[in-house]
Amino acid sequence: MLQSKLFSKTTKNLPEGEETKNAQLLIKGGFINKSSAGVYSLLPLGLRVLDKINHIIREEMNAIGGEELLMPTLVQRRYWEQSKRWDTDVVYKTGASKKQGELEYGLGWTHEEVIAAIAVNFLQSYKDLPKAVYQIQTKFRAEARAQGGLLRGREFLMKDLYSFHTDTEDLNRYYNQVIGAYKKIFKRLGLRALATEAGGGAFTKEYTHEFQVLNPAGEDSIYYCQKCDFSQNQEIYDVNRHKGCDGKVVSGRAIEVGNVFKLGTRFSEAFNLSYADSSGKKHLIVMGSYGIGPTRVMGTIVEEYNDSAGIIWPEAVAPCRIHLMSLGDSPKTKKESDRLYKLLSGRFGSDEVLYDERAAAPGEKLKDADLLGMPWRLVISEKTVAVKKIEIKNRASSQSKLLSEKQVIAVLDGK
Ligand code: ATP
Ligand code: MG
Repeated sequence: MLQSKLFSKTTKNLPEGEETKNAQLLIKGGFINKSSAGVYSLLPLGLRVLDKINHIIREEMNAIGGEELLMPTLVQRRYWEQSKRWDTDVVYKTGASKKQGELEYGLGWTHEEVIAAIAVNFLQSYKDLPKAVYQIQTKFRAEARAQGGLLRGREFLMKDLYSFHTDTEDLNRYYNQVIGAYKKIFKRLGLRALATEAGGGAFTKEYTHEFQVLNPAGEDSIYYCQKCDFSQNQEIYDVNRHKGCDGKVVSGRAIEVGNVFKLGTRFSEAFNLSYADSSGKKHLIVMGSYGIGPTRVMGTIVEEYNDSAGIIWPEAVAPCRIHLMSLGDSPKTKKESDRLYKLLSGRFGSDEVLYDERAAAPGEKLKDADLLGMPWRLVISEKTVAVKKIEIKNRASSQSKLLSEKQVIAVLDGK
């Protein structure tokens, strides 16, 4: 990708009221654009990050038997009325019906109702179970305070997985499998997410689990052990749950990047979702629901990986792995960096190489590279051409090295 051709540019201008690091750095770098409070566009470079996050989520959801589908955003009022959730604060109501002058739709804020109504058509016998389906979809919530950049949107992306089971035992089995998949996802994304016990609210008396990343930008407070896996949301904290470990329990702010819920029969009851067992007897299907917020995850990654100069993208989600630049205006430098761009594009894919061939001052180019935060910066200048080397620097390190082309390729190959 040629940097001179990019739709977006880096900017110093920030909209008012953006206090969080993720909003500031993502806007300055031209990854996102603020439309209104809690409503952002993903610009081309930002969308590349989001796509990589979604790709990792998809791989792990498919690995536990999840099938991807896509449900409507416009959800008719009768669905919410059937589950008694039409009058929930966060629902954006819309679509005046001409006849009654009433708001007939809600913008989807979660899809238990819609999926239960769909499942009635396909899940009827014990032979049809278990099943799991998920979507990655834009959700809408009238959040009262939308001020954390991508951390709390009024419009945001959610991966929502729903599972269907014959009984609680089978739900418990799958629930643990999803926890395993979530651990893999967050690890691959470079996030240390603690599986934190939380209250089940209206759904269940049992604990649910939230995946919490310790970070001061978080809105949640959790208690966690410095030695074992114990972690609980402050809202339900019970010191007696921490047993058989002498580690110290401390509290901290955290960002909830995902959660898993045992729904039981709450929605199967509302939608008459049942199956016949081998003797033909009917039972309600037992459900689970499991969320991850990919846009919130993107904001969390920025909160976790940054310094005073900009973002430090982990390789797994960086918009491009390599940021190549030519410094100075000597024709020899230009020729050499053009050649290297071709070579690297062939080897790693042109989308993975951002080439800064702009006729800008070296200081400006280096500053932009730090802000944009691609993992590997390669510099070609008169100095490097003279010694037939390339200057390579990892964004997370303060040291650059002068290496031969062969050595650089070996580094980029991960050797
Ligand atoms: P929170 O307590 O932060 O409001 P929630 O309990 O409402 O989250 P769910 O409704 O279960 O969350 O949504 C599943 C996931 O979607 C969350 O774990 C989070 O990652 C993401 N999410 C929820 N609300 C938002 C939002 N307003 N903006 C961005 N992501 C969100
Ligand atoms: Mg919420």
